[in-house]
Amino acid sequence: MSLETGLDGKKRILTGDRPTGRLHLGHWVGSIAARVKLQHEYETVIIVADLHMLTTKRSRDDIRQILFNARGLVLDYLSSGIDPEKSAIYLQSAVPETHELHTYLQNLVTVNRLLRLPSIKQMAQDANIAEESLPFGLLGYPVLQAADILLARAHLVPVGRDNLAHVEITRELARQFNSNYGPVFPEPEPLLSDIAALVGTDNRGKMSKSAGNAIFLSDDEQTVAAKVQGMFTDPKRIHADTPGTVEGNPLFIYHRIFNANRTEVEDLEKRYTAGKVGDREVKEKLAGALNNFLGPFRRRMAFYQSKPGIVDEIIWNGTLKMQRIAAETMREVREKMGLDHVWKSLH
Ligand code: ATP
Ligand code: MG
Repeated sequence: MSLETGLDGKKRILTGDRPTGRLHLGHWVGSIAARVKLQHEYETVIIVADLHMLTTKRSRDDIRQILFNARGLVLDYLSSGIDPEKSAIYLQSAVPETHELHTYLQNLVTVNRLLRLPSIKQMAQDANIAEESLPFGLLGYPVLQAADILLARAHLVPVGRDNLAHVEITRELARQFNSNYGPVFPEPEPLLSDIAALVGTDNRGKMSKSAGNAIFLSDDEQTVAAKVQGMFTDPKRIHADTPGTVEGNPLFIYHRIFNANRTEVEDLEKRYTAGKVGDREVKEKLAGALNNFLGPFRRRMAFYQSKPGIVDEIIWNGTLKMQRIAAETMREVREKMGLDHVWKSLH
């Protein structure tokens, strides 16, 4: 295989999520929409990163949840339009070469380099971990991520700005490895998506599953309508005839992204600014628009749910594919490092 292209001659992408819950509209805006498009151009490998989950969630209960969460996550991918024929979806912990490569890479990066990353502090803070209790594994989060990317010998990694530094570390590790031992890894390019995070229904920061301000891709019509009904809007607007503000108003942020009827959105914006429409109508139309948007998701979800066992089969097939890729990468890694020679000399 050349360093320039993957097995089928296309460049390879690695992307994925930790199996910590279901996907919401924020995930769709931030990453899923791009993946669905990119899978047609690139050979896509999607990682269900359960080992990464262990850096912050590792109780017996958390671990018991992995399979349930992985199935939900993959069902959300499939209902978003991820095509298992184009995108291999694999379970990270079922590819043990990940640990091996992680171990080799750990010696090619300094503790100081990792301690300087703002993302590590942020993750520790989000998980309520004090600085002096920082686990070794959490410090190594980006190195484990580099192991995933390099194991797949991905050429491209779609990331948000907060994760850009991790791809930079991966590139440094690839260069370092290649120059120490010989060329094995392509230097992966980040594919930066600079989309602002989608605000939550409470207008208090980004939509996130733990903040209780999320509309999930798997929510049914009534749930979506109820969540939209409870949405926060322009706080200065008390009556329907008070001129309202459209900019920064979550109702209109959502309308602009998810309502395919542009004329309706423009009309609502005009009337809202002029104090000629009530929140109620704006919300009813938004609930309708979101349910239209989610229609195809629900149809695909129903299709996959009507075939028992298919989600597990998709994960299993993706995992088998990644196991083949990993075996080939590690064969070359050991050979270039001369480790295979050490073993073989034993007999
Ligand atoms: P939690 O509440 O457990 O932190 P979450 O809903 O914030 O969960 P994460 O698992 O933290 O989801 O998010 C994974 C990735 O999804 C993020 O790195 C980011 O790229 C993207 N993402 C999450 N929420 C949003 C959002 N509201 N807008 C855009 N992208 C998002
Ligand atoms: Mg989060």
